[in-house]
Amino acid sequence: MRRIVLFGYRGTGKTAIGTVLARRLGVPFLDTDALIEQQSGRTIPEIFRKDDEERFRTLEREAIAGLPARDIVIGTGGGVVMDPKNMEHLRAQSTCVLLTAEIATIRRRLARAPRPPLTSLPADQEIAEVIARRRHNYAAAADFCVDTSRTTNEEAAGRILGLLEHGTIPAPVREAAAKWFAATPLPAPEREQLQSLLTGPGHDPRTRFLGVAGWPCGHSRSPLLFNRLFEKYQLDCHYTRFEDPSISAIMETARSIDAKGLSVTIPFKQDVMACLDEIDDAARQIGAINTVVFAYGEAYGCNTDWLGIKKPLAGHKGARAVLLGAGGVAAAAAYALMDLGMEVTILNRTPEKARALAERSGCRWGAWDDFDRTNPDLVVNATPVGMQPDTKSPLRDDQLKKEMTVFDLVYTPPVTPLITAARKAGCATIIGTEVFIHQAREQFRLFFGIDVPDTVIREILA
Ligand code: NAP
Repeated sequence: MRRIVLFGYRGTGKTAIGTVLARRLGVPFLDTDALIEQQSGRTIPEIFRKDDEERFRTLEREAIAGLPARDIVIGTGGGVVMDPKNMEHLRAQSTCVLLTAEIATIRRRLARAPRPPLTSLPADQEIAEVIARRRHNYAAAADFCVDTSRTTNEEAAGRILGLLEHGTIPAPVREAAAKWFAATPLPAPEREQLQSLLTGPGHDPRTRFLGVAGWPCGHSRSPLLFNRLFEKYQLDCHYTRFEDPSISAIMETARSIDAKGLSVTIPFKQDVMACLDEIDDAARQIGAINTVVFAYGEAYGCNTDWLGIKKPLAGHKGARAVLLGAGGVAAAAAYALMDLGMEVTILNRTPEKARALAERSGCRWGAWDDFDRTNPDLVVNATPVGMQPDTKSPLRDDQLKKEMTVFDLVYTPPVTPLITAARKAGCATIIGTEVFIHQAREQFRLFFGIDVPDTVIREILA
């Protein structure tokens, strides 16, 4: 058995249901709040009153880091999901169940056992606001979700036991999904592994599936990266390729096997938006999605490409930047550069497209030939010029000045003709692989709430 960890807002029944569940499984129950009280020799209201929430969170982090790795049911405090370190400890070798309940139910339960307030808001408002703030973190924490609004503790524990034994994917659906994957270009060893996890004799119903959605996506390094991260963080998950010309068919299969998430690549970054229930603000402004998280029976789309572009540029706030290209990745780049307070000029082969993106993003724009009038500190290439097998650079060598930083978003080859020329000219350079590393890190955090150091990702990809 893996550890069973119960997450959820206060009043969703973690302690009461966890106690019943542990009894029925014949294992101990451990409540992290009780553990903090025992270890600190103070009650939680006392810690909040005499110190503050920050002190409580420190004690909580210490208690969670010391939790045993054995058969046990663990009930957690409502706010543990906000800390990536907590998530790393709690998710290891565990099946994680998110308990939810309606606001009125939570209010009624809390009135019976008052806890220290988290805000100065009236009770109902506080519950709604804190749950909304933590919504995506709770989603990241969940392997399974159980609504406890209308259940007794015995019933809720029974539901969890059912999920642990049977999972959420009925056998005929597993068979149908296995057939669907068999008809895709998934390489034979990957296909066999997936078939065995879906329908093999010893398959674990708790295994969660994720994957990259694209056509084609055989080149994607995400399966290697994510599966290695699952091993490292001891997550019972498998990452595969959803390779099909129809994004609707991919989304249907992903929903049918209760997938935890998808990385979305060409040519679906725009089309997938029509298949989602919720889209985050940045992705809506960029007009593209590269990450889908499934939770609460819904699909939530976001864009981590812009964060992957922004991260390596953190030291360039306020720079004068030229962005070459006005396509999909240029939109994410424009959003990232504007977010860093840069003065951005978009130059494109087709100036009208530069104009459209510039107007949407609050940038200046021009034609390709305007480069020599811009005198930038930073140049970002968001065109495919220099991508294998092309050997050209988007700029002439004499346009590169040693004071410039040159960021080429093209990553095949890792060192492009533009990067080679920029290094020769004495420029600082950033290669396109950096975007993949940082956007994948953000994706992993969205899927599981865990923050992977980029050194770990670099090691895996090396
Ligand atoms: P896209 O939507 O097709 O846009 C391509 C852009 O490049 C357009 O603005 C296009 O100009 C311009 N362009 C194409 N060929 C050109 C040429 N020969 N000379 C000058 N401009 C040219 O493509 P995308 O999705 O934005 O991807 C662009 C490149 O970014 C890809 O090739 C890939 O290497 C890279 N990329 C990197 C990452 C990463 O993680 N590092 C992620 C995504 C993409 P027009 O408007 O005139 O057609």
